[in-house]
Amino acid sequence: MDTHAALYQQGQQRLAELRALPPINPVSLQQKLKDHGISRRDFMKWSAATAAMLALPLPFSNLVAEAAELADRVPLIWLNMAECTGCSESLLRATTPDVSTLIFDYVSLEYQEVLMAAAGMQAEQNLEHAISEYHGRYLLAVEGAVPTANNGTFLTIGPKATTGMQLLQEAAAGAAAIIAVGTCSSFGGVQAAAPNPTDAKGIHKLLTQPVINLGGCPPSEVNITGTVMYYIMFGKLPALDMFNRPKWAYGARVHDNCERRGHFDAGEFVEVFGDEAAKQGYCLYKVGCKGPYTYNNCPTERFNAHTSWPVLSGHGCMGCSEPDFWDTMADFEKPLGRQLLHGLDATADTVGAVILGLTAVGIGAHAIGSLFAGTYEDK
Ligand code: SF4
Repeated sequence: MDTHAALYQQGQQRLAELRALPPINPVSLQQKLKDHGISRRDFMKWSAATAAMLALPLPFSNLVAEAAELADRVPLIWLNMAECTGCSESLLRATTPDVSTLIFDYVSLEYQEVLMAAAGMQAEQNLEHAISEYHGRYLLAVEGAVPTANNGTFLTIGPKATTGMQLLQEAAAGAAAIIAVGTCSSFGGVQAAAPNPTDAKGIHKLLTQPVINLGGCPPSEVNITGTVMYYIMFGKLPALDMFNRPKWAYGARVHDNCERRGHFDAGEFVEVFGDEAAKQGYCLYKVGCKGPYTYNNCPTERFNAHTSWPVLSGHGCMGCSEPDFWDTMADFEKPLGRQLLHGLDATADTVGAVILGLTAVGIGAHAIGSLFAGTYEDK
């Protein structure tokens, strides 16, 4: 049996198991979509697009549709650590809720500090209840880095002043799978930038279980929803890269799918923001774009209901989905090559050569890491 046929069968079995569970949400997804004016046809189009985004062939769109309808059978606990809530906002602030946003609304969200009405002791009880009621079944999403200095006391949450470290360990112990949403929970983010006084860390450094990292400041809503959908559909993590990011979302360089790439290859660069080249939509490398060093699907999936992304809006990529980007990618409005190579990339031709050399190294490292990371697919 080929790989896709085996995966399809695995998905069917998984969904049959979920179908046997009682629904948690009293309102069906179909009703929710109808209430928001989204037709069955639009939903099926979304399912086909999601299958394609997950690098699955078209027949899998039926599984995506069914998985979406069964999404409330998988309880979701979402913890907020040291963060700005931008990742939650990325998912929730669509001006017109699309299917991805509504599915997130439909999953059985048992605990989410930004959204829930409960506060204080009641919120704490809700979390304890969800952890014990759905032990071994729930998906744990974590937003934000975890401060570890001074025994974790730089971050205390709730009426009992539980540290982020304790909360994470308690919730992770009963989780079926764990997703780090955003660069802070994946790699520490700005909280872990030098000199990192609170010794903030990405959550995988504090856990023994596998963690799927969704780098990005913030990650797009499709990368969050797509990862949740993959887990609902197959009950396992997708293939991951060397930094435990899903390959379907982080497998290609920003630079390779960028709409300004033709200008890079032609040596046409913006020299300063606002110049004539900027008005012509030329390449932003010389004003600091880090797209050549960054792996993410921003150019193809974009943000805000697929409307735009930073490079299309006129600012270079900041490399925000890469580990330690606050330290390694700064200055954000100067080329990285200029700093590393002492001005060797002063001309357009040399810029291309330098970048090709550097990215060849990057691609090599990525490919080698991916060989090892491929083992995650069967977890
Ligand atoms: Fe696009 Fe940046 Fe690459 Fe230029 S350097 S092509 S703006 S990703």
